[in-house]
Amino acid sequence: DPLSAAVVVREGTLRGDKGIRSEMDVSHQKYLIRALSLARQEAGLITLGIFCLLVTAGSSLILPNYQGSILDRVIQSDVPGFRADVVLLIAFSFVNGVFGGIRGLCFSMVAKRVLKTLQDRLFRGVITQDIAYFDATTSGELTSRLTNDVGSMSEPLNWMLSTLLRNLLNLAGGFVMCFYTSWKLSMLAFTTMAPIMHITAIYSRWSRELNRKRYALLAEANSAAAEALGNIRTVRAFSTEDVEVERFKSKTLAAMVKGVRDAYAYSGAVAINNWLDLGASITSMNGSIKLENVFFHYQMRPQHSVLAGVNLTVDEGKVCALVGRSGGGKSTIIHLLMRFYDPVSGRILLDGRDLKDLNLRSVHRHMGTVAQDTQMFACSIEENITYGLPTYSKEEMEEASRQANAHDFIMRFPEGYATRVGERGVRLSGGQRQRLAIARMLLRKPKILLLDEATSALDTESEALVQQALDRLIEAGGRTVILVAHRLSTVRNAHQIAVMEKGRVVELGTHDQLITKNEGVYARLVRRQVYSEANKIAED
Ligand code: ADP
Repeated sequence: DPLSAAVVVREGTLRGDKGIRSEMDVSHQKYLIRALSLARQEAGLITLGIFCLLVTAGSSLILPNYQGSILDRVIQSDVPGFRADVVLLIAFSFVNGVFGGIRGLCFSMVAKRVLKTLQDRLFRGVITQDIAYFDATTSGELTSRLTNDVGSMSEPLNWMLSTLLRNLLNLAGGFVMCFYTSWKLSMLAFTTMAPIMHITAIYSRWSRELNRKRYALLAEANSAAAEALGNIRTVRAFSTEDVEVERFKSKTLAAMVKGVRDAYAYSGAVAINNWLDLGASITSMNGSIKLENVFFHYQMRPQHSVLAGVNLTVDEGKVCALVGRSGGGKSTIIHLLMRFYDPVSGRILLDGRDLKDLNLRSVHRHMGTVAQDTQMFACSIEENITYGLPTYSKEEMEEASRQANAHDFIMRFPEGYATRVGERGVRLSGGQRQRLAIARMLLRKPKILLLDEATSALDTESEALVQQALDRLIEAGGRTVILVAHRLSTVRNAHQIAVMEKGRVVELGTHDQLITKNEGVYARLVRRQVYSEANKIAED
């Protein structure tokens, strides 16, 4: 845990490597709190960043209204109102772009300044240690702690400041939208995709070069530190610690300046893109999916490659089953499609367009998912099923519930669909929750279904009801389905089976094609499953 190590050094309690190691065990929570306490001195910038975040979140909620009404007016050719809305749309998107840019700048500057403070303090902490400490520690270890460890902590801090805060706000905004009028997403920005890509490409090239210089400077700081620490006796004998600290500081300052310049340019690119990007939402979707050479690792375990070059094409309306041993990366593919995370490299295309370039909310409108662990809100069953939908009819809701095998159990409650669930309401079983989630999803008529079939937590009867509902969903057709499949019966019916192992698709084809490869992974999996099911029957 580099941050704790740094904090320990800063507090001057470091007395040998043991001190660092024991401090490495601090819990994750503590880690976050410590990171935040270090960022406290940047309270001004953080406050400004949060203010801009609120403004952009607010204007993002307002923008679709104007996009929708402009589209309506285009259809109705009502010219006067049209003009006013166009002006407002441009004004709000300008606000959105500018504040979005400033927000990015603030958070990115906080991260870079905290990084610099940490580096300086850590170096001072190390260089003033007892000589006995240097006897016990190699200079290589020290320098790696000074650069790599400290460098890698700017990432979680960035994440806290931008992603976490934004997601919390999105969550709050989602609730607000529940009670807000119907708003229509429209597409305006097909024409703006080209300039956005151009600006992004220019920025990326420039930024890469700048960051190359920045890392070179950091490496110089590193070697200045290594030199000073390697000659610690001379430094101590001449009392030149302050000289060395200043030398080190000048390098980290130059690196920070480059970093801040990058932050300015980045925020400029974001501001322009946000302005142009306005309507990169989608009104209709066919539902074809393509993964192109997708690499991914989770931020917390960067050395562990979870997807190692996945290529997969699922045509519109087809069912693709992901199978393979646990840990192969199947659920991760679902996470990436939901855009919980972005690929480290490679692309995910939806209807031929990069998922990253699409408006997340409009993508989610066309995607349905039933997670293994379904969350319910502490409100009525009706509100849970229709969560986030601006309009729906009772008939539609009941039809969706019937298809999801949920209607009967709902009607058995005295208050039917008005029954409150969750806290201080009825406690639903896992299977019931899943069936409500299926109803919730069905009501949205998504073009793409992402399913994780694992139903291990359910009792046999619930499992059968959930499976029946899922089978119905898949068999109904007209939707592209990607599912993490465990049951042979589901897999057998899929149009395409992708066998995942160690983050790669190792076999691809239909059941009939793959089963003939005797030594193939799939054939072996099937043999094992048939065998274990036969055993189960024998036991019963
Ligand atoms: P599968 O669905 O095939 O069982 P997963 O996609 O769930 O595989 O996991 C692939 C690998 O990623 C596993 O080694 C797992 O431990 C790791 N992993 C999954 N989620 C996370 C996470 N949030 N953070 C770190 N590692 C994760």
